[in-house]
Amino acid sequence: MRKRSVRDLDVRGRRVLVRADFNVPLEGGRITDDTRIRAALPTIRYLLEQGAAVILCSHLGRPKGKVVEELRLAPVARRLEELLGRPVRALPEVVGPQVEREVAGLQPGEVVLLENLRFHPGETANDPEFAAALARLADAYVNDAFGAAHRAHASVVGVAERLPAAAGFLLERELQVLGDLLERPRRPFWAVLGGAKVSDKIGVIERLLEVCDGLAIGGAMANTLLAARGFDVGRSIYEPEQVEPARRWLETAGDRLLLPADVVVTEKLEPGAPSRVVPVDRIPAGAMAVDVGPATLAAWQERLRGAGTVFWNGPLGVFEVEPFHRGTFALAEFLAGLEAVTVVGGGDSVAAVQRTGVAGRIDHISTGGGASLELLEGKELPGVAVLPEAPAPRGNGSGPGGAGAAGGASERGGPAGPGGGMAG
Ligand code: ADP
Ligand code: MG
Repeated sequence: MRKRSVRDLDVRGRRVLVRADFNVPLEGGRITDDTRIRAALPTIRYLLEQGAAVILCSHLGRPKGKVVEELRLAPVARRLEELLGRPVRALPEVVGPQVEREVAGLQPGEVVLLENLRFHPGETANDPEFAAALARLADAYVNDAFGAAHRAHASVVGVAERLPAAAGFLLERELQVLGDLLERPRRPFWAVLGGAKVSDKIGVIERLLEVCDGLAIGGAMANTLLAARGFDVGRSIYEPEQVEPARRWLETAGDRLLLPADVVVTEKLEPGAPSRVVPVDRIPAGAMAVDVGPATLAAWQERLRGAGTVFWNGPLGVFEVEPFHRGTFALAEFLAGLEAVTVVGGGDSVAAVQRTGVAGRIDHISTGGGASLELLEGKELPGVAVLPEAPAPRGNGSGPGGAGAAGGASERGGPAGPGGGMAG
């Protein structure tokens, strides 16, 4: 079921409140990665071209309902100005009389950015008064913050209930790509999961085991499965309380579930610490498995080579500490070279892909970590549920003898056309 799109809104001469995800990494007031800002540009540009005035809003970090000077959105406004090539005024507050006065005078083509939504305690509480105060600022609302769509916050849910609401281009594309992944993946459909904890991703593992043709598991997560298979994992990070569910997955999945055959072990998790590769049945008692080994990568690549779709979430090792980045980086490079539709989601996995420099050759890099996982679990995201359905297409499309009338299905072949709407 498609949601109403920004294209379906009549925005000429109107003020449109756009919920974006400008939760960017900052170091000493400098933005170190502007991917999220760029990702919001298509929607902002479209609205400006249509003759709207744009009121942007976002959260940044976790100020917990209070003003935190380092988390002001002014640096985001400055970066936006450079990217849009027009002024973006950063307002000093989220809501209130001064903000209302400023937005009342907005002309078509003008852009303002409200202050960090989470400076106000009403945001995360989805407080009705705060939501109403936000809604008063605009004539329509567009949600383009996929990364926040799994939160029932005022700027995500409360405002959408009070204004004509629609999905922006980024949100639309995320829903399409991730939705198609579950509903009509080009097969064989493989998933690779890694990262720190099984317990974070139980829902996703179980869902993927239902829909995938194969699932490979690495990272610390694999240690729990290795323990379930009866191997001694030494001092590796693993979750004893998840060994039981892991045993069930091993039983039901059979050879559709791939585990590491060898791992990189070390006694100290430090840059450049001595390490070696061992088979998974020889992990020394005093050592930790911190990456997958070369035999694992070779075996997985063999199986994944013919895939139609590959979804990847979670690093295969402690990629932040060299040389334990190797497995993760090798997987990123391998995926970039595949014919398959490739989709990567998860904050750390996306960071790893970006560090390898192959991001441009991955079909879809999701901007939502938690949101993408909840969607893949089959959960309904509150920020999506609240948006109205798309209007029915005009005409019934089955005109007599029309050239394209044969066949009823609107099969699109695969979830992601390469080079889709992500890049600014
Ligand atoms: P994502 O953000 O992509 O969803 P996670 O947050 O689940 O990924 O996991 C990322 C973390 O997992 C990284 O900090 C990485 O160091 C850690 N990790 C991966 N493999 C291991 C391992 N073998 N031992 C300890 N930590 C690991
Ligand atoms: Mg993470």
